[in-house]
Amino acid sequence: MKKIIFFKIGLLIIILSTFTFGAKVQYSQWKRGLSLEKYLSLHNISTDILSMLDEDDGLLVEEVGDTRDYYELIASNGVLLQSLIPVGEELQLHLFRTPEGYNVEVIPIAYKKDTYVALLLVDKSPTADIISKIKYRKLANEFTKVLKNSVNFRSIHKNDKMAIVYDQKMRLGQPVGSPDIKVAMLESKKKKNYVFQHSDGKYYDENGNALVQNYMGKPLSSLRITSPFTQRRFHPVLKRWKAHLGVDFGAKRGTPILAAADGRVVFSGWQGGYGNVIKIQHPDSYVTLYAHQSRLKAKQGEQVKRGEVIGYVGSTGRSTGSHLHFGLYKNGSPMNPMQLVKFSTGGLTGNSKNSYLNRKRKYTKIINTIFDENRPSYVWNTVNKRSVSPSDKKYYQNRGW
Ligand SMILES: [Zn+2]
Repeated sequence: MKKIIFFKIGLLIIILSTFTFGAKVQYSQWKRGLSLEKYLSLHNISTDILSMLDEDDGLLVEEVGDTRDYYELIASNGVLLQSLIPVGEELQLHLFRTPEGYNVEVIPIAYKKDTYVALLLVDKSPTADIISKIKYRKLANEFTKVLKNSVNFRSIHKNDKMAIVYDQKMRLGQPVGSPDIKVAMLESKKKKNYVFQHSDGKYYDENGNALVQNYMGKPLSSLRITSPFTQRRFHPVLKRWKAHLGVDFGAKRGTPILAAADGRVVFSGWQGGYGNVIKIQHPDSYVTLYAHQSRLKAKQGEQVKRGEVIGYVGSTGRSTGSHLHFGLYKNGSPMNPMQLVKFSTGGLTGNSKNSYLNRKRKYTKIINTIFDENRPSYVWNTVNKRSVSPSDKKYYQNRGW
């Protein structure tokens, strides 16, 4: 289990080379709700291999079940040689056959992250134009969400300007997760309304004031983080990849757990490593998860209000001490809950504000210059040369991009 990554890659290559001897590679969509245990038994593999996983990896197993593409290598006699099953956006479970039996480990997903920039003039509406010109509905949804409290979308007219700078993870030529908008601008009545994402993942206006968003409430009346959210990190001692797709809050057994926002309880019961767990579906395709509870209060199907007690802190499932594991998911992908849990109402201050304002000045200058020069609407990838003609690339570089 704790072999170094180079060996793993070597192993992958060796196994992949068996492809030429009749094994076949298969990409399929993971069926919603299919657990890893079920998947293993479908392939006649003992679920005992999961007990070898440590606490963190054991929790990752519970994240399998998103409807995502996974990869299988199957021998000509139908025996599964290996599978790569995504958990979260950055890691995957690597299930592989060895002479002694099957083994499972957590390895990173190879993906690249590029920055894209889109400058458009409104034709029909911002949403319709992003969908028709950029052909990316998720980007249209994110753009609307980010700006909805700063701009009145009904006062947008034809030829108003819009700009989006966003990061996108790509895997096997397909976008992974949601676009991560860094800058959004929409013009209305000759005024350019900007929203910027700061390094804390939250959005602020041009003066560094926090934007009123649909922030979530705290899941406990007082929060003490004992383990932060990480999509992936290389553990220096264990020499392998780890992830923690939620935030752990230390609290005494029996402390009331509060619904972070209004929603419907879509799961209330026992789920493997999570023990007693509740999942709440909120508007805007968010789901929150509350794991390791000593006692569940809210029932499946129940409608709950923000701040309502849904259960009590405990240490059920794979847990070594009393705490709340709090997860947040957007369209099924885990994200850092701290991005949406509101801790303070204030804006940025001090160094944090200065660095924010510097970045803001840089972006607004570039975007304004490009619009002033009447450059035709463009979407381009600032990394991938192929999508930008050489003269365009030079043009944008000269403007400081
Ligand atoms: Zn946790």
